Amino acid sequence: MRSSKALRIFIYRDPDPNILKWTELREYLKKRVGCTVEIREPLFKQNESLARAFAAARVHDPLKPLANREPLPSEIQIEEKFLGAQKQIPGVLYDGLEIQRLCLGLLPVGERTRDHLHLVFVNRLIGTYEQDGRYHIHAAVFGFPTLLSVQGVVFGPARPKEYYTLRGQLSEEELYERLERRFLVLDDPRLTEVVKGYAIQAVFYHVFGNPFCENSQCRLYNARWQEELLKAQLSSPEFCERHEQMLQEFKSEITGTPC
Ligand SMILES: [Zn+2]
Repeated sequence: MRSSKALRIFIYRDPDPNILKWTELREYLKKRVGCTVEIREPLFKQNESLARAFAAARVHDPLKPLANREPLPSEIQIEEKFLGAQKQIPGVLYDGLEIQRLCLGLLPVGERTRDHLHLVFVNRLIGTYEQDGRYHIHAAVFGFPTLLSVQGVVFGPARPKEYYTLRGQLSEEELYERLERRFLVLDDPRLTEVVKGYAIQAVFYHVFGNPFCENSQCRLYNARWQEELLKAQLSSPEFCERHEQMLQEFKSEITGTPC
């Protein structure tokens, strides 16, 4: 699975321009991976065939796998509006594998090789249908390209248990403060730092074939809870010893300098 020593990373930024600090994310990847990292405009442009494809990828029943159905004209119209929106699209879940497939078709043909790592940010909720018979929301759907969803970062890993017991009694803002910010919200100043970890997971998936680590302190930890996510992404050290070494060795291969 090991790729060649040439690697270029392309970040297709979220249509919602202010959701993350894009330059900071790019500089972090450059520093840790040692390769060229380029930020590009969002991958999706407004057009009818794309709107149709998004409408067809909508999950209507999270307890059933995606049905092969022709979308209604009204659904396609809504998706056309969504494709022009420079903000997060709330409340609709899309099949991540379908979106990934349609993204692959939008990448420049000459860049569909293993020397290119494409990170496509989507301003939507994405999920995959799992063996337990329901869709799970994801922050990242790894593959070619890898999809990243900030909504998935915020709404994928579960919030502290108290959140669910207090939810009816307090507003979101009150809960955020009451629970001492032990979970992320969409305008959270910590989001860019947390997303760096998912971007590095995508690098590990692309280069080594496995994005995850069992060590809860490591940025490659597959967090199920927001508190686990914040601990893995915001506290030192960044990586467990093994993954730190793998990353440094890969960087030295890319840059041609010993680590
Ligand atoms: Zn690790």
